[in-house]
Amino acid sequence: MRTVEGRTDRVVVVGAGLSGLSAALQLAGRGHAVTVVERADHPGGRVGRADIAGYRIDTGPTVLTMPDIIDEAFAAVGETLTDRLELQPVHPAYHARFADGTEIAVHSEPTAMFDEIERFAGRGEADAYLELRAWLTKLYATEFDGFIGANFDSPLSLLTPQLAKLVAMGGFRRWEKVIRRFLSDERLLRVFTFQALYAGVPPQSALAVYAVIAYMDTIAGVYFPRGGMRALPDAMAAAAADAGVEFVYGATVSEFEWNGSRVSAVRTAAGRRVAADAVVLTTELPDTYRLLGRTPRRLLRLRPAPSAVVAHVGCADVGDRLGHHTILFGDAWQQTFRDIIDNGKVMGDPSLLVTRPTAGDPSLAPPGRDLLYVLAPAPNTDVGQIDWDATSSAYTDHMLRTVKTRLPQLGDDMEVLSVVTPADWRRQGMAAGSPFALAHTFGQTGPFRPANTVRGVDNVVLAGSSTVPGVGVPTAIMSGRLAADRITGASARHPRRQVTPR
Ligand SMILES: Cc1cc2nc3c(=O)[nH]c(=O)nc-3n(C[C@H](O)[C@H](O)[C@H](O)COP(=O)(O)OP(=O)(O)OC[C@H]3O[C@@H](n4cnc5c(N)ncnc54)[C@H](O)[C@@H]3O)c2cc1C
Repeated sequence: MRTVEGRTDRVVVVGAGLSGLSAALQLAGRGHAVTVVERADHPGGRVGRADIAGYRIDTGPTVLTMPDIIDEAFAAVGETLTDRLELQPVHPAYHARFADGTEIAVHSEPTAMFDEIERFAGRGEADAYLELRAWLTKLYATEFDGFIGANFDSPLSLLTPQLAKLVAMGGFRRWEKVIRRFLSDERLLRVFTFQALYAGVPPQSALAVYAVIAYMDTIAGVYFPRGGMRALPDAMAAAAADAGVEFVYGATVSEFEWNGSRVSAVRTAAGRRVAADAVVLTTELPDTYRLLGRTPRRLLRLRPAPSAVVAHVGCADVGDRLGHHTILFGDAWQQTFRDIIDNGKVMGDPSLLVTRPTAGDPSLAPPGRDLLYVLAPAPNTDVGQIDWDATSSAYTDHMLRTVKTRLPQLGDDMEVLSVVTPADWRRQGMAAGSPFALAHTFGQTGPFRPANTVRGVDNVVLAGSSTVPGVGVPTAIMSGRLAADRITGASARHPRRQVTPR
């Protein structure tokens, strides 16, 4: 593996999102002096926050998986995840509701899920589920550490016995096609393929290696931290600060100082200079290349992921009548992906993710109230020509009418607290108005994704969702570790351990 040569004692990490925090923890644990420079006044980045009318809103991720990967970041400084964060398992992980009125609970525990599928679709599908579960588990074991969690210096470094195993398992066939080898119920098929949207690709064309996301949330389990998702970056930043990492908030890095092909310091827009032997950059790709003073031709051809509209809504307490995560599937399926990915239109027949964080922590809403987070996949601003500022209010009404029709247990007093559209993500500096970075097409996967090293620059390493391994909470945290490995070599890494949430 290629690593940064020469002095690397003082490392500046640009950005206190999950990838930057993970890199900072890893590097501090390996004895480096680390300064994190962040333009916001708090850590988290896309794990965003907004406090409105007594509601504590998480504006970014809601589905938290793979606590062992998060724990690995804490282990780097001799701590544990459970010492810093009160993590609760979400049971069931999801409820899936279909347009025909049927509903299934998605359990991570195998017997509970077998029984639920037998009730829902019969014994044959329940048996098939166990076979699919074994396949997904094997897929995870085969690819996770060696493929997703590894630094590649070139596509040739992919050619390992593990790759042959993945090919033999069908990992490079299409995700939906592989799941059809096991399941024939169309509704169950959706439960084990909708996660392709997280990768920004329809399940009909996504690589089956990405079915590992279905492993993560239907088998490995979904969790929620007390205090909301923001408790995660807060805990990581606190552990890093206790390990000696210096944080500079409210400071936008605007340029680098160079010594030949090495960056010797970063400068902020306010004129502050922070000396650096090495830099980890977690900025958006266009900003990254602007800071580095280069525009690779490939940048123009990269395909951004679809975006999303998120509505944050308060409502009267619904109690046990609504779980933590509910997926409302519309009748349309393939057309839904065509609408948002190819045609640049909003979904004609919406499929929505409704999250009720107050199911895990009621203190996130005022007494007697619940907080809902409704996410509608939407086209990014490259493919869609939608005037979001003019239409977001009507679209939000449409989304909420759909939610109300499909979840009649919700009362009539829904109050819209905030709506975030692709235009807002773009105003926040996200390329193509998408918070999900680059789509995980074949050409933007593994060694074909923009690498975390930059040709001609000796001491800058990239991290975050635009580089390897990709988008998502566990992957962003892994990308921070991969960046640290580029600076120190991988040998200093702590092994992963099983996490038992308290
Ligand atoms: C609405 C939404 C829903 C999501 N849902 C899920 C989910 O359910 N499950 C899941 O696993 N993932 C989900 N994700 C994805 C996940 O949140 C991201 O992939 C991950 O948080 C990205 O982390 P990052 O460190 O790469 O980037 P960021 O969080 O963007 O961090 C980059 C940081 O750099 C800072 N920065 C940028 N430029 C500069 C500069 N010039 N100077 C100083 N600082 C700078 C930014 O302010 C930011 O804090 C979701 C994301 C969003 C937005």
